[in-house]
Amino acid sequence: MVAARAPWSRTIERGQMLRIVDLEGRQAVDFLCYNAHDPADRYAAADTMKINPSGIFLTVGTVLYSVEITPLFTIVADSCGFHDTIGGCCSAPINAFRYDAPYQPNCRDNFIAELGKHGMGKEDIVANINFFMYVPVSEKGEMDMGPSLSKPGDYVDLRAETDALAVLSNCPQINNPVNDYNPTPIRVVVWTPGA
Ligand SMILES: [Zn+2]
Repeated sequence: MVAARAPWSRTIERGQMLRIVDLEGRQAVDFLCYNAHDPADRYAAADTMKINPSGIFLTVGTVLYSVEITPLFTIVADSCGFHDTIGGCCSAPINAFRYDAPYQPNCRDNFIAELGKHGMGKEDIVANINFFMYVPVSEKGEMDMGPSLSKPGDYVDLRAETDALAVLSNCPQINNPVNDYNPTPIRVVVWTPGA
């Protein structure tokens, strides 16, 4: 269980599975991943969108590529269908700019805290995935943050294609509807197929 607003990380060995479950629904999960043997070889949002036919909405069959075009994870199951890779993560500065909000827990600070456990810091944050977050884009190119469409129990299964460090933030955002204004817990499960 990952509590509402909390971060989490773990190295997933090649062939292992990572499941992320949106227990109560409408909960965005911000996600970064790195080649465990070379942290500079990290998730590349633009290349992932260019290479995969799934485009900006990640789903079954989407491969998460790194900047060296190393396959890091493949999405092998998805009960939701809307996972974003263009919306980025929430932060104290953007919350102040867009919502005039006082300091609140946020994904950027969660990432910084969690990356610190692995010898990395804010300079290692790149454009991230948002599982269970719906970012519609209009014909004119306008984008919106939510509303979230995920249902209670929705999950996504990721197979590690190399030893990969997964870092996530259970999004604390309360200023827009990506979490239905109510951050909730998620479940993370790691397993080895056949074991
Ligand atoms: Zn967030």
